[in-house]
Amino acid sequence: MGGLEQLKEWVEESSNIVFFGGAGVSTESGIPDFRSVDGLYNQQYDYPPETIISHSFYKKHPEEFFRFYKDRMVFTGAKPNAAHRVLARWEEEGKLRAVVTQNIDGLHQAAGSREVMELHGSIHRNYCTRCGRFYGLEEILAMDGVPRCGCGGTIKPDVVLYEEGLDQGILQKAVSYIRHADMLIIGGTSLVVYPAAGLVNYYQGNKLVIVNKSVTPVDNQADLVVTGKIGEVFSKLMEE
Ligand code: NAD
Repeated sequence: MGGLEQLKEWVEESSNIVFFGGAGVSTESGIPDFRSVDGLYNQQYDYPPETIISHSFYKKHPEEFFRFYKDRMVFTGAKPNAAHRVLARWEEEGKLRAVVTQNIDGLHQAAGSREVMELHGSIHRNYCTRCGRFYGLEEILAMDGVPRCGCGGTIKPDVVLYEEGLDQGILQKAVSYIRHADMLIIGGTSLVVYPAAGLVNYYQGNKLVIVNKSVTPVDNQADLVVTGKIGEVFSKLMEE
């Protein structure tokens, strides 16, 4: 695993790390990503995943949307892996300022991270589209088919679907953290989903690190590329 020693040294020196991650951060927790060969996009469904998890599909075919969503996007048994745990520890130690994630699984918070910008929302928050009442994950999973509120409205997960915009407040906060970071570590993301992928352009420092299993479009801009599984790489960082 080339570059590990360099990464270790930079982490030791740093007090303002920002981490920006995606689905690859949670694959070692048993949640499939979208674009690996065994990821969601390569499994067989009547429609491609990006069609099913779009706003128009959700409106037109809510039954099918929730069938896919509950079956393929919610993994209740998943536990944080070493990558989530190390990031939480760095925050505790005052090395890391924030985690910016495209994931919706809540595993960073489960590991103890506090400053987490969830660009694409979370499966753990659900709201009635009519009266706004809040529902937790367990409650909607216990409902068959399309989850409905007592008022008759549909309950929608607080997850950003394709065709929907990102929360501007969260995006601005993420931009600000990245702009001021002394080190930006990007991990487990194919960096192809916009506008999230464009965040890397706000980084102004000289320690841009990519930790990913496969090549990304920003490898050539990076100061260091570590190729490997992020949970394994991060566990090695903690070894003496
Ligand atoms: P992606 O599926 O497009 O890309 C995942 C990337 O991570 C790939 O480059 C892959 O090579 C890499 N990867 C996979 N396992 C890895 C590992 N163990 N270590 C290091 N790298 C690894 O994911 P994306 O870029 O996050 O974009 C897809 C969208 O899918 C996001 O918007 C996200 O909201 C959503 N999504 C979320 C989850 C989740 O919450 N866990 C899961 C699937 C998809």
